[in-house]
Amino acid sequence: MSFTIFFISQRFPARLKIFYKTFGIIGHRCSAMGVPGLAFRRLADVRFLWVRYALGILLLIGLMLGGHQIHLQSLREGVTDAATIDISGRQRMLSQRLTAFAHKLNDPVQRPAYAAATHEALDLFETSHGLLLARQAAFPSAADVYAVGAPDGLDARSRAFVADMRMALQLAPGDPRFFELLARLDSTAFAPLLRQLDAAVKAITADAEARLGRLGQLQALLLELSLGLLVFEALLIFWPAQRAVNQAMRTAKDRAADLAHRNRDLQALSDRLEYSALHDPLTGLANRKKLYAELERRLQRSAPCGPTCVMHVDLDRFKEINDTLGHAVGDMVLKRAAEAMKSKLHKDDLVARVGGDEFVIVVDLESADPLAQAQRIAEGVIARIREPMLIDENSCTVGASVGYALIGTDRTMPERIVADADIALYEAKRDGKGKAKCFTPRMRNGVERRHALIQDLQRALDANEFVAYLQPKIAFSDGRITGFEALTRWLHPARGVLPPADFLDLAEEIGATDLIDRQAALGGVDALAAMRARGWQRPTLALNASAKALRGSDYAADLRMAMAMRSLAPGDIRIEVVEHTLISDTGDKAIATLRALTADGFRIDIDDFGTGYASLSMLSKLDLAGVKIDRELVGDIENDRSRQVIAAIVGLAKGLNLEIIAEGVETQRQFAQLRALGCDTAQGFGVGKPMSREDALAWLDQHGNQPVVDLTTLEAKSA
Ligand code: C2E
Ligand code: CA
Ligand code: CA
Repeated sequence: MSFTIFFISQRFPARLKIFYKTFGIIGHRCSAMGVPGLAFRRLADVRFLWVRYALGILLLIGLMLGGHQIHLQSLREGVTDAATIDISGRQRMLSQRLTAFAHKLNDPVQRPAYAAATHEALDLFETSHGLLLARQAAFPSAADVYAVGAPDGLDARSRAFVADMRMALQLAPGDPRFFELLARLDSTAFAPLLRQLDAAVKAITADAEARLGRLGQLQALLLELSLGLLVFEALLIFWPAQRAVNQAMRTAKDRAADLAHRNRDLQALSDRLEYSALHDPLTGLANRKKLYAELERRLQRSAPCGPTCVMHVDLDRFKEINDTLGHAVGDMVLKRAAEAMKSKLHKDDLVARVGGDEFVIVVDLESADPLAQAQRIAEGVIARIREPMLIDENSCTVGASVGYALIGTDRTMPERIVADADIALYEAKRDGKGKAKCFTPRMRNGVERRHALIQDLQRALDANEFVAYLQPKIAFSDGRITGFEALTRWLHPARGVLPPADFLDLAEEIGATDLIDRQAALGGVDALAAMRARGWQRPTLALNASAKALRGSDYAADLRMAMAMRSLAPGDIRIEVVEHTLISDTGDKAIATLRALTADGFRIDIDDFGTGYASLSMLSKLDLAGVKIDRELVGDIENDRSRQVIAAIVGLAKGLNLEIIAEGVETQRQFAQLRALGCDTAQGFGVGKPMSREDALAWLDQHGNQPVVDLTTLEAKSA
């Protein structure tokens, strides 16, 4: 009971905590104790509550069975005790009756009537005495009274009494021994017997009561134990179970909250992903995917509305800005351009970035004259973009060209309408940039032609249709051959021999000039080898090299190899580069190639000198062999200023010890004037036109080392 009270006291919760803690700690410590330790650990583990539960129930059942057993026992013993008390009380009554019967037996009249009753009572007394003796182990106090073996114990007195009574039955009435017997019974025997029988009754009663008390206590103890056990079960099973359930519910709630949180994060992430899948990260504008989705949506619209205009915007000179000012500035320019475009449009209009510096605008037109409105908007966008922007304290201007197309009632495919706007843009750029052009079906024909040409060009490259035509150069001093320039020609299977003007720009656009250079160079080198084979040692060969070819990784190596395979020396080759190749910002690689070539013994000439913007410093940086005065200057030599420019170039070149080659020499007069100005070498139709390899070989065979131009008549003419 005190144990239960200990738990259900005021400081119960605190104690409980300690209890659980200890239980748990012991459980953990016990893990090192083998099987019993493990068992205890299981008991301490909330997950194995059922073990505690089963144990508790088993104990409770045990206690209840025990209690029941004790109850039965006390019932049984109560019955026996009552009978025993009854018997011992009856002994007292029998002894009194027998004493009275003894007197009657002495009366001859009454004796017959009492003899049988005395017999009967005496038998009962004797039987009861035996019974009480047999039970004296269960009644220790009564056993003391009976005191078997002791002369004055109840047992001895009872036996003496029985013996006296038996004697009374045998003696005849009036026998003097009878009187003697009766006197003894009355005076000494009967009173102590009665006293002791009384004492025996009391002792038996006391023993029975003591036993009953003990059983009662035992029952109370069992009840207490049951109650204690119930309290224990409540503490060890129900409470922990409740706590576990609470904890599980809390965890579930936390998990749900966590899940909701994660769902939100996932949603945000998917929103971000969707946004980045549809937008350009730099400008935040829609990307190509969103543009087409939007166009599709507008094409599907059922409500009748004005035509939609698709504008293709391309920034002019953007590549230059990127190359010269760096990509960071380029990015800023793109962002500003994006803002400029948005500022000229309505909220419903869409601007998408579809390439490096290419944008597409989708605008719904409303006015009665949609074409005029589209042109106005396009020009507005161009003007807005062209406004100078301040980037990192530098003022920067970028232009834009726009091509646009209207989606009419025919509702074409989005790809088609964007392609139409692109075609118009191409036309706008070709027309001089900074312009806005509306698409017309005629434009598409031009583009389709161009497209076909590009494919044709690519096929021709594969088929090696580019060959070298050779144009001779002669010395002003003696009129004799000095070399040939290899000029590329496209031997078109259908269109015949095409000049570079027909395809070089396109080749440049698709980045194929290096391949053309290579085919022309190989043809030229082959022709030179053939000349050497015929014994002509004088002519050198000039090759035109584009910036793209020079920037390629293997131009010099390939050239070296081609020369070596034909047993030609680098000194036989002159390489012509236009000024632009030398000033280009990204021309470093080209210049490195040129340096490597000069180191190998190849000679470098600057082509079209006087028309470009070669910095004069470049002339000293490279170990050049010569300059070629541009044929336009030569053609204009009658003009005083042109002649002065040529004279200045000659002066400069002579100062740098460069060979001066004049190209485009058509007339004898030009020849004479250039010779007079001090030029070294002449090239032009006046000397010889570019010829096929066979024609060039024949030409060389014809002229050999003889002067091509008759200097004597020439001198006579110019004089
Ligand atoms: P270029 O290097 O200045 O070549 C000289 C051009 O002037 C040639 O035109 C030639 O036919 C032409 N020409 C020569 N003498 C006269 C003349 O007296 N009067 C006139 N009106 N023209 C004359 P072509 O062959 O049409 O070449 C044009 C340009 O194409 C060349 O100018 C050169 O820049 C380029 N080119 C030619 N072949 C190649 C090549 O293999 N590779 C590269 N990258 N460019 C080449
Ligand atoms: Ca040339
Ligand atoms: Ca030239």
